[in-house]
Amino acid sequence: MSDILKGKRGLIMGVANERSIAWGIAKAMHEAGAELAFTHQGEAFGKRVAPLVKSLGSDFLVDVDVSDDVSLENAFKELGAKWPTIDFVIHAIAFSDRNELAGRFVDTSRENFKNSLDISCYSLIDVARRAHPLMKDSGGTILTMTYQGANRVTPFYNVMGVAKAALESATRYLANDLGPDGIRVNAISPGPMKTLAGAVIGGARATYKHTDQNTPMRANATLEAIGGTAVYLTSDAGVCTTGEIIRVDGGYHVLGMPQPENL
Ligand code: NAD
Repeated sequence: MSDILKGKRGLIMGVANERSIAWGIAKAMHEAGAELAFTHQGEAFGKRVAPLVKSLGSDFLVDVDVSDDVSLENAFKELGAKWPTIDFVIHAIAFSDRNELAGRFVDTSRENFKNSLDISCYSLIDVARRAHPLMKDSGGTILTMTYQGANRVTPFYNVMGVAKAALESATRYLANDLGPDGIRVNAISPGPMKTLAGAVIGGARATYKHTDQNTPMRANATLEAIGGTAVYLTSDAGVCTTGEIIRVDGGYHVLGMPQPENL
């Protein structure tokens, strides 16, 4: 897919380290010829992310906390000053209190419910509204990351399942609002990945092993496959796809039961 994104530029939000899904996407988009700008969250992540960003030839890295209006406002102001138009935004951000990603869903607290939905879902709406002026004249793509726990009960995913269900619904509403301006909004739904966010979910290792052994492909998703899907969706080849949830999970979502060899 070399050069399929040549001439396109955009913002990647959510790189924490080299295992981040956002980083897999950034690498694939860079290889496909895109120019990239990045946000990171907080000073500690910034130190880790800065060399990665530099390795892809980018000089744009700003600190953004998506729960803080001012930091988002400043980031999009800076981005607009660098590039008056952009072609894509990758939103790969989620958060919930790790103490509530174990045990029972019924014990979800009001505070963590609000915080999880704010950071993991509302932030997409907020980002889309701020990206719109930079995309409305030439069109663009907004991509977010969801998980099958939105649709089916997945042990310990708990309130994040509700947040992802809201995120998937927001993807469809945003696709409808922004479609007339040529802006497409889609979500990728990868299977479990070994990332910082993935590791805080109760039973993460067992889940990873289970899906690796039971998907039709007998393999979990890879950063390369998620990156490739993001490249396709952002490219002109994806021009008729919007409001869609694209699964990159080795086919796990089609199963009704584990494979016979694992029963
Ligand atoms: P990750 O920990 O590498 O990335 C999560 C990112 O969210 C981090 O960069 C973190 O800084 C950012 N973030 C959290 N709160 C923030 C805030 N208030 N402001 C700004 N940034 C904030 O983990 P990941 O697995 O790469 O997660 C990326 C996305 O992929 C998330 O939406 C996650 O739910 C989704 N996803 C992950 C998996 C998995 O198994 N890891 C599977 C499907 C979907």
